[in-house]
Amino acid sequence: MSTKYIFVTGGVVSSLGKGIVAASLGKLLTARGYSVKIQKFDPYINVDPGTMSPFQHGEVFVTDDGAETDLDLGHYERFTDTSLSKANNVTSGSVYLSVINKERRGDYLGATVQTIPHITNEIKSRIKEASKSEPDFLICEIGGTVGDIEGLPFIEAIRQFRFDVGIENVIYIHVTLLPYLNTAGELKTKPSQHSVITMRSYGVQPDVLVCRTQTPIPETEKSKLALFTNVAPEAVIECRDLDTIYEVPMALEEQNLASLVLKRFNLKDKEPELKAWKNMLSKIKNPSKTVKIGIAGKYTKLSDAYISVVEALKHAGAAINAKVEVEFVSAEECLDMEKTAKVLEGFDGVVVPGGFGIRGIEGKVNVIRYARENNFPFLGLCLGMQCAVIEYARNVAGLDGANSSEFDESSEHPVIALMSEQEDIQDYGGTMRLGAYDCHLQKGTKSYKAYKADVISERHRHRYEVNNKYRALLAEKGLVFSGLSPDGKLVEMIELPENDWFVASQFHPEFKSRPEHSHPLFFGLVDAASKRQK
Ligand code: GLN
Repeated sequence: MSTKYIFVTGGVVSSLGKGIVAASLGKLLTARGYSVKIQKFDPYINVDPGTMSPFQHGEVFVTDDGAETDLDLGHYERFTDTSLSKANNVTSGSVYLSVINKERRGDYLGATVQTIPHITNEIKSRIKEASKSEPDFLICEIGGTVGDIEGLPFIEAIRQFRFDVGIENVIYIHVTLLPYLNTAGELKTKPSQHSVITMRSYGVQPDVLVCRTQTPIPETEKSKLALFTNVAPEAVIECRDLDTIYEVPMALEEQNLASLVLKRFNLKDKEPELKAWKNMLSKIKNPSKTVKIGIAGKYTKLSDAYISVVEALKHAGAAINAKVEVEFVSAEECLDMEKTAKVLEGFDGVVVPGGFGIRGIEGKVNVIRYARENNFPFLGLCLGMQCAVIEYARNVAGLDGANSSEFDESSEHPVIALMSEQEDIQDYGGTMRLGAYDCHLQKGTKSYKAYKADVISERHRHRYEVNNKYRALLAEKGLVFSGLSPDGKLVEMIELPENDWFVASQFHPEFKSRPEHSHPLFFGLVDAASKRQK
């Protein structure tokens, strides 16, 4: 069959969870045996989110092919259990960049280069690119809110696209908000009516409305919405706030969203295979115990900055039927070992996640020292591994002042140093060691036992690495280099054999954890944390 396109737009406010709705529909279609790809358009001018602050924008999600993307791609991959690529995240900046490059090359043969048709054509070519593998469905989410000036070229492009590929091959889903007014005691449909009016003024009539709401939508309001927005009553779908995002596919399934979409496309509906998903959900919803894991990072309040780490911890919890409570540990408070012990009191394990810049580094080193000396379950990710090497060098190998040259260029012992291929790089955007690389695991180590494999592939995003000049000394002092790049030149994993779980990786395993099969390294941490309670 030819690819069917489902465009998802958002109305009234941002942060509606359009990404979760797109991912959930993806899940329901894959559960029926259809192949699905999901693409995200971000209307900002940054070429990719790689240079944006995680505090503002949340985590930068990395794909196998090394794209730095919006965190929604993480949801897409986790819900549909597929790996996406560069083509699946497109920003206005990347669209303009290629149009301007083409203009400079003279590709437009003297034409005046304009938003319509040049920018819109470029957007449409990106939609085609994302569906090059001919999936049964491409779900394409337009970031931002309808009515935003910067979103207009995208809406215009998806309007045109329907005529390019045939109107029977495209549907539009509008995700909107029904606010509840306490004083009136009712849900209000007017903002959504206006949002659809705005869509129609752009020439796009939504086929389905997904209504975000805190309370059930009365039938009367559903009919009213259907009437005023010109959407069939059965296509007004309620999407309530739920305890976990993994419940959303089930809630949408109950309202026949996927069946309705298939009907619109004249495609066969099938019984969805959701057994493993339901099993995972019931474990998340009925845990037999609670495990408390701290994340010792830089961004203490905003969970989105570490969203894949938090999700990976939850997946590991589901695998052992435990609720994982994640709390942010302020590394900046861990000024000495006494304070560190106090901060970690009450936790069962700790993650030191990835990051950039010197803020909080000494505290992270103290957290890791505490974990090493007290057999406290620890998982280090990227910067977390680098800090573990610094800690070991200083406190076990006796290398006073050991540091990463990222934080102290004149360190006497730069145990973490810039990778040689990074030395001459000037631009910050898209120039790190990015994407999937193979790693060879050393037999007999905890890492090897966790993965049950000789060779693994994991995703990277870093500039610095373990300095090979110090490897022999650190190994002699007991640090185990359990994972190396295939040529043996880069340290990919370290661990301490005497601790129950003290494992760290230069890569980011969190990007490959899935709700239905938790990642071995997160499983190792949560399992050790749970056993430590006993
Ligand atoms: N700042 C470190 C580096 O560039 C770690 C990066 C990270 O944690 N993603 O190597």
